[in-house]
Amino acid sequence: MKDTLKHRGMRNKLADILIKKGISDQNTLDAIRTIPRHLFMDSSFEGHAYQDKAFPIAADQTISQPYTVAFQTQLLEVKPGQKILEIGTGSGYQTAVLLQLKAKVYTIERQLELFKKTKIFFSKLGYRPKKKIFGDGYKGLPEEAPFDGIVVTAGAPEVPRALMSQLKVGGRLVIPIGTNDQIMTLYIRKSDKEFEKKEFGSFRFVPLLADKN
Ligand code: SAH
Repeated sequence: MKDTLKHRGMRNKLADILIKKGISDQNTLDAIRTIPRHLFMDSSFEGHAYQDKAFPIAADQTISQPYTVAFQTQLLEVKPGQKILEIGTGSGYQTAVLLQLKAKVYTIERQLELFKKTKIFFSKLGYRPKKKIFGDGYKGLPEEAPFDGIVVTAGAPEVPRALMSQLKVGGRLVIPIGTNDQIMTLYIRKSDKEFEKKEFGSFRFVPLLADKN
């Protein structure tokens, strides 16, 4: 599959839709205009790649809806060079958006099939996360902590304490919390012990699952 002018045109239209839905961060919108989402999906869905919809990927998982990716990215307020941990690599699309924002990205996936697939895909397309990990994101990545930002791309029944503890002071954790539907939740670490919590709209994610072992 290739990236063509037509794809670029569709991406610009997608960015316009996201602006209408309330996304305002220019860097986030530029990343949406740049990343070839159709390459992150099964070729049978290629024609739909620039609709604002989630689609199935392997292992019963989904590539998140562009609005959701943009919303989470905007809440993270990524600055170039920051260390960002992503839980749920999935298709790798959110990873690519974070890399486009010049973040140092650490990404964890618990489905072996997806982990292997994205590993090959990233190197083929020249996306370079700092680390791609096959494992359980509930535990975070203590050996690389603390992080400027953590984004969880699956629905968590509650906030994993490990993730809160791996944030820098001033760092931001963006996590959808809930079982059927999720409330997008932002935690900002104010000090060693204090966190500010802000809640946003309702979203629907695949569940964040605990370790298979
Ligand atoms: N960011 C992805 C979203 C994929 S859906 C994208 O844009 O495509 C969420 C992903 O989280 C799935 O791939 C799922 O396998 C993964 N996941 C679920 N529980 C997890 C866990 N405990 N640790 C790491 N990844 C997990």
